[in-house]
Amino acid sequence: MSDQCLFCGIVTGTIPSVNVAEDDTTYAFMDINPASDGHLLVVPKQHSQDLLEIPAEDLTAVTLAAQRIARTAVKEFGAAGVNLLNCCGAYAWQTVFHFHLHVIPRYVDKTKDRLVRPWQPGTSDDKDAITALGDRLSAALD
Ligand code: 5GP
Ligand code: ZN
Repeated sequence: MSDQCLFCGIVTGTIPSVNVAEDDTTYAFMDINPASDGHLLVVPKQHSQDLLEIPAEDLTAVTLAAQRIARTAVKEFGAAGVNLLNCCGAYAWQTVFHFHLHVIPRYVDKTKDRLVRPWQPGTSDDKDAITALGDRLSAALD
């Protein structure tokens, strides 16, 4: 736990939140500035800064909790789909440095849904460059 961390404060109850679910390893709560109706966050109870740092067991537990809640959100809210989102690093839009998965139910009704696709698709013109980057990553993996 980190004294300075907002989500550690939410996990311990020092900072109030709307709790959705909880188990030994994870805590799920509603996002205070929702991108859609039902937007929530799932975090590990143990502090990890981000995707690069989180231990495998915590990542697994958070992902499974997000799946369980996503299934229920689709049924209960009549969502048409769900986006899971993780931001890793300030340059990738992370603003709270305690790992979290966003669970964002999606709706046909745009009054409930303000999420837009965060990238413009590129072109597949440079197939050599794509292949070179893929090969380089593949060769560098542990
Ligand atoms: P990030 O930008 O790091 O991926 O996501 C951080 C999320 O935390 C944002 O969607 C933001 O709305 C949410 N958030 C920030 N402060 C609070 C808070 O005090 N309570 C809750 N419930 N959510 C928060
Ligand atoms: Zn924390």
